[in-house]
Amino acid sequence: MQSTLVSFPDGALTGEGEVLLVDQAASVVILDATPFHPVDHTWPDQPGDAGVITSGDVRVRVTEAVMAAISDEGALAVGSDIPVKRGGEGWTWMVGHRTDGAIPADIAVGARVALEVDADRRASLSRGHTACHLASLALDAALADLWRKEIGADPLGNPDFEGKANQSSRIHADGSVDEYRLGKSLRKAGFDSEGFASSLAERQQRINEMLAGWVASGGESRIVVDGPSIIDRRSWRCTLPEGEVGFLCGGTHVRSLAEFESITVSLDLSDPQLLVMTTTAVAA
Ligand SMILES: [Zn+2]
Repeated sequence: MQSTLVSFPDGALTGEGEVLLVDQAASVVILDATPFHPVDHTWPDQPGDAGVITSGDVRVRVTEAVMAAISDEGALAVGSDIPVKRGGEGWTWMVGHRTDGAIPADIAVGARVALEVDADRRASLSRGHTACHLASLALDAALADLWRKEIGADPLGNPDFEGKANQSSRIHADGSVDEYRLGKSLRKAGFDSEGFASSLAERQQRINEMLAGWVASGGESRIVVDGPSIIDRRSWRCTLPEGEVGFLCGGTHVRSLAEFESITVSLDLSDPQLLVMTTTAVAA
């Protein structure tokens, strides 16, 4: 068995595949190829695609695409039950299509089936994911003067607050929620937490002005892949007025910043140790 071939990086919403494995207990169908984007089990920031699998007149709903892995011994592990990180040795990496209830007999090993992703859900998650990355770059830029020591740079050349402090990122339809740890170790790394707390509203405004400028620029956004399978490395690249930015990312994205009417953030520091950034995208 080979790793699932995926077409979502090109923006595909439909496709065909041959059924390789049906697991009724786990309600999972695995195919040789799919347009479905799965939630990553190692860093589950973007939910998986939903949609339908069709064989002739028979349809089964896919509630969410997930990662699946088959060990060299033939054991199937799905989603958060996978005991190793993505790409780990000794496993073949697949996209699992989690179905709504029992899998009909027509969708059996060897059958060729049609696949269709819920386009509205994909589009809103893609907007949410691109907005999340842009907001984090704007956050790094707006906090740049708060660093008293040299730390690594982000793709725009600003001190990488995101890389140092981000502890979770959750993408949803047209937005995201990111949490940043502002503890002792960040202070030791040279971050002025008090200065940040006393200028929160001003920083938020700076981020929103930057985001408005980027949205207005209407730059290109795309996914670059190292190969055709789910296990090949993928990165997001985006053209901003400051230059092209990009980093490793397994998710889906808009094709152009012109797809946004606006992107805005709100910063919450009600727990002084935890910054919560809520990002809201509005489709054009
Ligand atoms: Zn990403």
